[in-house]
Amino acid sequence: MDFRLSEAQKRLVAEAREFAQSEIAPYAARWDQEEHIPRRQIQKYADAGYFGMTFPAQYGGRGLSTLDAVLVIEEVARHCGISARLIVDHNFGAAITILNFGTEEQRRRVLPTICRGEALMSIGMTEPEAGSALAELTTSAAEDEEAFVINGKKHWITGAGEREYTLLYARFHEKPGPQGIGAILIHRDMPGFKYAGRIPSLGVRGVQEGILEFENLRVPKENLVVPPGSAFRKLMSAYNGQRVGASAVALGIAQGAFDFSKDYADGRRQFGRRITDFQAVQFKLADMAISLDAARYLVYRAAAGAKMGITGRYESSVAKVYASEMAVRVTSEAIQLCGAQGYARSLPLERMFRDARCFTLAGGTAEMQRIGIAGSILGRPLPQDK
Ligand SMILES: Cc1cc2nc3c(=O)[nH]c(=O)nc-3n(C[C@H](O)[C@H](O)[C@H](O)COP(=O)(O)OP(=O)(O)OC[C@H]3O[C@@H](n4cnc5c(N)ncnc54)[C@H](O)[C@@H]3O)c2cc1C
Repeated sequence: MDFRLSEAQKRLVAEAREFAQSEIAPYAARWDQEEHIPRRQIQKYADAGYFGMTFPAQYGGRGLSTLDAVLVIEEVARHCGISARLIVDHNFGAAITILNFGTEEQRRRVLPTICRGEALMSIGMTEPEAGSALAELTTSAAEDEEAFVINGKKHWITGAGEREYTLLYARFHEKPGPQGIGAILIHRDMPGFKYAGRIPSLGVRGVQEGILEFENLRVPKENLVVPPGSAFRKLMSAYNGQRVGASAVALGIAQGAFDFSKDYADGRRQFGRRITDFQAVQFKLADMAISLDAARYLVYRAAAGAKMGITGRYESSVAKVYASEMAVRVTSEAIQLCGAQGYARSLPLERMFRDARCFTLAGGTAEMQRIGIAGSILGRPLPQDK
């Protein structure tokens, strides 16, 4: 087992670091305060080749590995969690589902526009009455002669209303549970698509979470991405990649908070000496570093085992639980190390702390990941995890 990065990966990291320092870091606080990241900024991520990094060249991608993508995401997240989330959403999630399970026509029509930044993409799963129990979703897709007709409501959809496409999880027939569920690609310009408002939230404020409603939304049949039947398993397997991407964001945010607080603490003097001369402070730094390393290798392990952006369920859940909980802990400790200054809005730590908090929820809660991990250990699906 070789833990070293290749020369090409080192170059990729160095480029991403320089890009994040010059094009992202100076503006991250402003996007958080304004609760908006401009589209021209998002275009820069596409222009830098950070959308569709793992897609094959014929669909506009760079053919990089999932680990390569994770390395870029981690660098960006050190300065700006929302920018890193945007990059995740356009390398994993809905896009990777189309890459793996969509038709060839869909891949050629949609994926190059994602890579070029012309179209952005959301994933629409969660409903007011179906969160962790996703297989209980009720948004319906009824088939008539020309189209699928969608009715229902989704909430907590990242990029709702702002992004052109949503990969929508819907119930195509009355069979209960996962069997009736499939996924279809909808566009915000389709009549019957309604953006029903933003959900103001604690962190990751520059990218909005919102509500979508559908009233007799007619979707052409060629937009059916994963027909019901075995769809739910396919959709969940594709979603494992999104979890690894989210873990890389959590890791990067925590690393950014660690770097900042280490430098601050090393420069801060109390009792006539540097506070890093006190062993209690040294141990705090050491524990933070240990947690970061442990998370990093779990995230890299999950990414290294990926095929076409799809990672193992066990590995991605382990990485997500550990990295998301670690990020909450480490960003909080970073604030502690900087004293009251750490709590001030003039420093980036309070933003990083707020941003880190979402990852034990978004993409499947830490509790649901633990249920999946326990199912893998026991070798059978558990009652809550069918
Ligand atoms: C920032 C953010 C972005 C998001 N983006 C998207 C998006 O783009 N698209 C999308 O579709 N969704 C998105 N979500 C929604 C997210 O996937 C859901 O919030 C998540 O799946 C949990 O659902 P819920 O909020 O309804 O919580 P609930 O399911 O109501 O859970 C509440 C609590 O109960 C616990 N719980 C529930 N069932 C069990 C059980 N069987 N055993 C033990 N504990 C249990 C949960 O772990 C949690 O702690 C986002 C959420 C956030 C916070």
